[in-house]
Order: sequence, then structure tokens, then C-alpha cells
Amino acid sequence: MENQLVRREARTEGTIVHLKNGASFGGDVLAVCAGPCSIESREQIERTASAVAKQGANVLRGGAFKPRTSPYAFQGLGEEGLRMMREAAGCNGLAVVTEVLDVRDVELVSRYADILQIGTRNMQNFSLLREVGESGMPVLLKRGISATVNEWLMAAEYIALTGNQRIILCERGVRSFDSATRNLLDLAVIPLLATLTHLPVIVDPSHGTGIAALVEPMALAGVAAGADGLLVEVHPDPASAASDGPQSLTFEQFEHLMRVLPAVARAAGRGVPAATLAA
Ligand code: PEP
Ligand code: MN
Repeated sequence: MENQLVRREARTEGTIVHLKNGASFGGDVLAVCAGPCSIESREQIERTASAVAKQGANVLRGGAFKPRTSPYAFQGLGEEGLRMMREAAGCNGLAVVTEVLDVRDVELVSRYADILQIGTRNMQNFSLLREVGESGMPVLLKRGISATVNEWLMAAEYIALTGNQRIILCERGVRSFDSATRNLLDLAVIPLLATLTHLPVIVDPSHGTGIAALVEPMALAGVAAGADGLLVEVHPDPASAASDGPQSLTFEQFEHLMRVLPAVARAAGRGVPAATLAA
């Protein structure tokens, strides 16, 4: 096997990615990343940050540079959005994960984020992988839309080769023959990756299904399969979301997920993060 650095045999213990706010990926306690697909306004990101923190999320997600299929669709608020998200996260004890689309923005995004997200469309953007690796920042590497497990691990190897092994893999579904769900969430890769790599793996049931009603059951299934955390889209008013409304949970739906999660986490030998602020 060529992927020397990320493969299981390279390290006897699993890699744990620790963040300054106490969140970790790969430890005894799950990482719960929640927030809107896109940062849309100060009010939207502040309300969401406060709601998800109260329920026990420990990382705020939200895109300011959005990889949209149509160039006419909302492209994100850019640096202004990053600033809003950083403030909202800080007020609620949350870390920040956000996507970087372009090598030219790695430095800018690094100033506001705790984790750089590489989206599905950029999994094999090798110059971007090297650049985020060299930033020294933790990297959330989403599985490419049609990527094999080996291609995904090779992409992680590009990052690891820069000397940065703070890499989190994220299963977010792959394109399949069937459009009944947006993507086909591949939960078998969770226990498979545990045999192939020491890197932590999380599940994104939002992009994995595209349907809000399926997010909770697939989040629980992901944790039952051994995932180290979740990435879930949450919006104050999904019907009016600028992107990915149909797969976004309301605050009430997220609250329900976080109420049922501890029992499944416990069965899988994990804890859930404590609610950060009872604001
Ligand atoms: C996102 O997280 O909003 C996103 C665009 O994800 P993906 O790259 O998995 O489509
Ligand atoms: Mn999205």
C-alpha cells in the first residue's frame, strides 16, 4: 500500500484531533458539528449558534465560500460571513469548521476557522490539499462525490505528506444510480475505515440523504457504526434557506436528535459533548 502515513499500520493508536474549545475527533466523546449550509446573516448565524450550543453541539459549521452547481446560485458571504460566524461561535463556546474552495483563500479562511473543510468537489484538488496541509490547520476531508475509499485515503495522504496529520475524514454520501435520496450514504465505510486508517471519521447525514426526515435515523446509524462525530445542517427556517433547505433540521428537530443520541452513543462506547452554554 502506498498510503504510508494514514494507514492503520502506521500508528497503533487512533489519531485524535483536539481543538482549543475542548472538542475532539477520535476520542471518547463524539464531535457534533452543526449549523447552516450557508452563513446568510448575522441574525441567522447567531440564533443557530446559540440553539445548537444549548443542545450540545461543540463545533459550528457554515459556509462562506459555497461550491454551488449553478454560478447563478448564492455563492456565500465571503469574509464578512466568516467574521459573523467566528463571533457567533465565540459567544457560545463553539469551534468553527468552514469550507475553503481555493488555494488563494487558505490564509484568509485560516484566520477565522478552527478546521478547514475540503468539500466533495475538491477532494482531489491536489494543490489545495497541499496548501491546507501546509497551513497546519486541522482539515475535514469530505469524500469525493464518486471517490473510492482508496482515492479518498490517497487524498488524505497528500495532506499528511506536508507533515500535518490533523485530518478528519467525512463520509457525506456518493452519487448512485438512484435519485430517491440525494446521495447514497455509505455507512459500511465507517467500520471499514477503522481497519484501514488511524484517522477519525465522521458522518454527514444531511448531504448523505438530502432529506431532513432521514437525517436523525442516519446520524444515529452512523454513530452506531462507530463514527467519531456528526456534521449536521441546522437552520432557523429551512424553508427560506439560501442553500440545502430540504436537508436542514429545524432547531426542534436538532434538539430531538440530541435527546436520542446519548443512548446510541453509549451503546457504541462514546459520550456526547456537554451543552456548552445554557444561554
Ligand atoms: C457543505 O458542507 O455544505 C457542502 C457543500 O458539502 P459537500 O462538499 O459534501 O457537498
Ligand atoms: Mn450544504
